[in-house]
Amino acid sequence: MANKFVFNFLDDNCDIVSVGIKGMNLHRMATLGLAVPPGFTITAEASQRFFSSGKLSEAVLSEIWRGVKDIENQFENGFGDFERPLLLSVRTGASENVRGLNKAVLNVGINDEITSNILKNSKNKTFAWDVYRKFILDYSVWVKKLDLAAMLEIEKATKEKYASFSDEEKLQHIIEELKLYYKKQTKELFPQDIKVQLISTIEACMQSWNSEIAKNYRVMHNIADELGCAITVQAMVFGNYNTSSGIGIAHSRSLSTGEDEIEGVYLRKEQNTDVLANKQTYTIQEMKEVMKPTYNLLENILKTLERENKDVMSINFCVQDEKLWMLSMWEAEQTPEARVRSVTEMAINQIITKKQAISLVDSNSLQYILQPSIRPEEESSIKEMGKGRCAFPGCATGRLALSTEKAIEYSYKDDPVILVIRDVSALDSEALATISGLVTLRGAQISYAGMYAKSKGLPCVVNTKGVSINKADRVLRCGGLTVAEGEYVSMNATTGKLYFGKLNLDTPQVQNSVGTLVSWALAENKIPIYADVDTYPQEMRAFEMQARGVGLVRTENMFFVNNRLKLLQQFLLSSSAETRERALDKLSDELVKDFVKIIAGSGGRLVNIRLIDTLLHKMLPNDKAELNALAASLGISSDELNSEYTNFIQSNPQMGMRGCRLLILYPELIDMQVGAICDAMALVMKKTKQMPRANIIVPFVSMLAELEYVTKEVRSTIRFNEDKYEMDFGIKVGCMLETPRSCLCADMMAEHCEFLCIGTNDLTELTFGISRDDCAKFLNQYYADSLMYSNPFVAMDINGVAELVEVAVSRARLRKTNIPIWLFGDQNANPVAIELALKSGINFLSCAPIKIPSVIIAQAQAKIKNEK
Ligand code: PEP
Ligand code: MG
Repeated sequence: MANKFVFNFLDDNCDIVSVGIKGMNLHRMATLGLAVPPGFTITAEASQRFFSSGKLSEAVLSEIWRGVKDIENQFENGFGDFERPLLLSVRTGASENVRGLNKAVLNVGINDEITSNILKNSKNKTFAWDVYRKFILDYSVWVKKLDLAAMLEIEKATKEKYASFSDEEKLQHIIEELKLYYKKQTKELFPQDIKVQLISTIEACMQSWNSEIAKNYRVMHNIADELGCAITVQAMVFGNYNTSSGIGIAHSRSLSTGEDEIEGVYLRKEQNTDVLANKQTYTIQEMKEVMKPTYNLLENILKTLERENKDVMSINFCVQDEKLWMLSMWEAEQTPEARVRSVTEMAINQIITKKQAISLVDSNSLQYILQPSIRPEEESSIKEMGKGRCAFPGCATGRLALSTEKAIEYSYKDDPVILVIRDVSALDSEALATISGLVTLRGAQISYAGMYAKSKGLPCVVNTKGVSINKADRVLRCGGLTVAEGEYVSMNATTGKLYFGKLNLDTPQVQNSVGTLVSWALAENKIPIYADVDTYPQEMRAFEMQARGVGLVRTENMFFVNNRLKLLQQFLLSSSAETRERALDKLSDELVKDFVKIIAGSGGRLVNIRLIDTLLHKMLPNDKAELNALAASLGISSDELNSEYTNFIQSNPQMGMRGCRLLILYPELIDMQVGAICDAMALVMKKTKQMPRANIIVPFVSMLAELEYVTKEVRSTIRFNEDKYEMDFGIKVGCMLETPRSCLCADMMAEHCEFLCIGTNDLTELTFGISRDDCAKFLNQYYADSLMYSNPFVAMDINGVAELVEVAVSRARLRKTNIPIWLFGDQNANPVAIELALKSGINFLSCAPIKIPSVIIAQAQAKIKNEK
């Protein structure tokens, strides 16, 4: 409503933009007939006007005083009245949650004279002094920006100095000391004019909208400065009134488990909810024993609020002389597990709809719920080895590997592995893909290890203290004890702890934890979700997570076990046709084993296999002398050394001989891999009597000519094998669009492919010109300088990368209307990527197994949002 600057809590014309979340929630509670101390909200528009003119206008001031009058009428107290003084609280809020705004200023409207009058008429002397003390503190800190710690120190010192005095005398001395401090700091006397107190408090609360923290928060969360903040002014009720009084916080369901039972804390004879965290409090359940009627009322109110707000609610309440008052309410902040349980049960009990339940969870949090956990009784009985910082939560138990090579070796036997290592880099990503837990002795949460763990959902602890690696003896030392490589260790990344021995892990079954919600969300999904997997165990977990099939097998990750790397090196470095052929034959046999496992494991679901997309510097030394030494160690004499082997020395391998380029230089690699896929399919077919479904993806192409070259070779090898086996494999051939050029040329690429895959990891690297492996080093500074607010490898870049994805999809469809298009990349679980996929017409998504339920929920949320 135009030019109305103050709404009382019962005024139905208010809206969230004018009165903010706080004001709106007070309005909701008041209109439900709950006991809310009367009050009013000054609109956000009034604060905007205050910012432009530097003062509150006459119109706003007169509405404020009218509001105070209203409170006086409802409460039968008077602002400044000696007999029945009305005291007020002033709080700041906005229509979006913003950090850095002023907290509550309580007891506005008290001064020396009013205090002494209360004292005259009251039996409860300490109460009056305590109310005044609290106001002096709040006013000094929030209005005059004086140092709270210094003032609390004064309180403490005064209490000690007058330890033998009565409580009342102590409080009197504290107030004198606080006023002296105030005068010293501000060069003014503590204000005695209660009108000045109220208006300057309101102005200071408005000003907090422009505090440094609030401004930064708004930039980070894309909240408009113009919103401004609303101010609520409310009659005080007193939890410190007597022993039948107190304050508390309560929630309509458990914050930690989601159980349908109210939860909370209560503190007797106290006014300040801030102290609830630090003082000995009653739980609400204990309150049930000593104050049953209040408990029952509270339970009723919380359940009403939950039904009315269609969400789990938290409240701040006050009991004054046994009367229960509602001070504020907000949406409860539950653990991810509790959240999922609560909203599912609320939907089952028809408090909310299934769609509302889906919309109420943070999709990203599901991956934390699905991490394995150590049983608490086991964790408490086992010996701790070391402790570091959590980079990604979750628990793991597995064989101790002290090097990436050992990690790969153990994982190939399908043993779970915990890699404990000084640090890792991008060169270790293949090994990291095989482990269940990562512990680094160095590094920060934003190190490569931390960023990798986050993108894949891998339990990870960094900067671990208490253990040291003895490379020579291949043991991990901890105090006087040692653990040999290969023995079992366990970790709880959530708490940062590393333990001796093997522990039983509870791996949450999707069905039992998030299954119901995920099944509702699946019904709202348009785009099927597949998984990125490189091993059979990962594939099994992916299917449990509801993956439709395997979206991406990164073949290069299979080259690091057994002798495979050596075989590839022999093939690349030798000029002897015989040596090269032998190496390829052996490599083919090796790959067939892995392909059979994954293709057979798919149970007839689709498996997309990408041909090797490697950065050669991860497989070969990058220097001539070391290359020569490697060749010699492989039994390749200098005469037999491939004359072009120095091509492998690259000054910028990220931009070098990678992706399809390696396949074009060595087409035998195409034949070997495609042949291995066909062999594996034929073997599975023979065993299951059913033709499995596999497709082949050509990696990292930029030019049509590259694609034509590789697909020609791929297709002719498929035909050769189909003739050989007398089978029709039905393999479709697609390619990765991961460079800006390939996205711009998607129409041409579409013509030569049966499907397209857009890979946003590389696309982000090449669009920004930054590497996913190194960017954490400077991004932190970028965040500090407000140059960037999120990591584009975690949250998709809307302006650049998303635009290229849209261009690629639309251009491809112009040429080939129905070509299936996949979206790959670690940003896939992010709601921005999901919205983009839906908007642009992506047909399939693929992501790490642990992220699948998050993507299912995020996709349903995007659809539900668009329906509104
Ligand atoms: C990509 O670049 O998005 C992709 C899926 O490939 P990779 O992560 O293996 O580079
Ligand atoms: Mg890529």
